Amino acid sequence: MNDQLSLEIEEGAELQSVWSEALARVEPRIGREAVESWLKDTTPFSLEGGVFTLNTPNATAKTWIEKKYARSLATVLTDLRGAETQVHVIARPGAKPGKDGARKEKQHQPARPARPAPSALFAPLPLNEKYTFENYVVGQSNRFAYAAANAVADSPGRGYNPLFIYGGVGLGKTHLLQAIGHALKLREPNARVAYVSGETFTSHFITSLREHREEEFRRTYRGVDIWLVDDIQFIADKTSTKEEFFHTFNELYLTNRQIVLASDRPPRELRLMEDRLRTRLESGLMVEIGEPDLETRVAILQKRAALEGCEVSPEVLYHIAHSVTNNIRVLEAAFIRMLALASLTRSPVTAELAAKALSAFVQEGRMTNISLLAIRHAVCQHFKVTEADLTSARRDRQTCLARQVAMYLMRQLSRSSLVEIGGMFGGKSHSTVLYACEKLEKDLKADKDLESTVRTLRGRIAATPGEG
Ligand code: ADP
Ligand code: MG
Repeated sequence: MNDQLSLEIEEGAELQSVWSEALARVEPRIGREAVESWLKDTTPFSLEGGVFTLNTPNATAKTWIEKKYARSLATVLTDLRGAETQVHVIARPGAKPGKDGARKEKQHQPARPARPAPSALFAPLPLNEKYTFENYVVGQSNRFAYAAANAVADSPGRGYNPLFIYGGVGLGKTHLLQAIGHALKLREPNARVAYVSGETFTSHFITSLREHREEEFRRTYRGVDIWLVDDIQFIADKTSTKEEFFHTFNELYLTNRQIVLASDRPPRELRLMEDRLRTRLESGLMVEIGEPDLETRVAILQKRAALEGCEVSPEVLYHIAHSVTNNIRVLEAAFIRMLALASLTRSPVTAELAAKALSAFVQEGRMTNISLLAIRHAVCQHFKVTEADLTSARRDRQTCLARQVAMYLMRQLSRSSLVEIGGMFGGKSHSTVLYACEKLEKDLKADKDLESTVRTLRGRIAATPGEG
């Protein structure tokens, strides 16, 4: 009797060898990926009374292992030991294995190891307070993405990791990503929510190299609880940056931190993706946001009207929703334009007024990209650079100036979004466009010749019939 009991209480080294063997045997059942992601950082804690206790790094891993792998592990361990074995999972980081490990550990509460403070140099981007789940209108086109985002916000790191959201410009990806961040912050004010864009990541990484602060960069990026990476198509197509992205991703993924990524295209079309990263992404959940149907567009406008505190008849809402179909940002802008027109002319908001506002909108090229092309074309002619130069990474003075002027004029004349404008230059980010416009504006004030050139060019483009 006593003998049997002592046989059951195995000491550390033996425990470890049973566990290693169990891992090898369980791999064909649950897959290598699962072993690497979830079981590798797990340590055997004790084996008592037919119960094999595993210690995991955190509560998320504990829940996941219990749900998904405990049964397979129990089967394997039962086979291995030739005695019925159950698996029990605990999350006590740092606890020492052994017979009385459990008792000792109970006295001092585990808690996460203290993390060093994140660095201000690599601070994430702020969240837009409008982008919440409450303000998000759910329709056919985004139902699945919305549900997935909600699930992730409810139990980060547990179910859908990573979550990958993709879809065209202005369809609500950023809004959803940030809504997850808001929801989490609300529930856990101390959670480290990091929202960055592909471009922020790239520029942070480059800064870290230039200033020899790689260590600080890694500490900050790898210390987040939830990583929301927007527009990952803008991560620089450079080996070192892509490698760093992969390592950050891996580190967070393997420690069960939630990762949510957004892109304008699915992983298989992303140039930056190495196979191993793509496989990881595709093993998570991928959701597409499509173009909203008419009902959804009307509902979005209704919500927007309510937010603006004004009443607009369904007829008018339908009118606008009919005219702008594939970009919610443009849809909202058209609506706001109409409200502005009503307020300026002190006229009631009618379908006629909506038509008027919309036609101005169309003429400005806001609803198409045609005038963007026209602007780019005219600027290239004037500065004697090719359109390919403009979209390339060329940095000589003439090309840079032409690029800035083109961006500036696009912003003034087309009122397309900064992202759309960036898209005309090989996918520059909105902040790059904004920076270029602001820089040129400053230069125009200081340089009379340049100011006159740009003025002439603007006049010529605006007067070009049929192109805009
Ligand atoms: P993307 O990141 O896909 O380019 P955004 O998330 O920036 O698009 O959305 C563009 C604009 O449209 C934002 O102002 C956003 O709040 C709004 N929007 C997008 N989808 C919805 C939706 N389903 N409900 C309410 N507003 C939306
Ligand atoms: Mg976006």
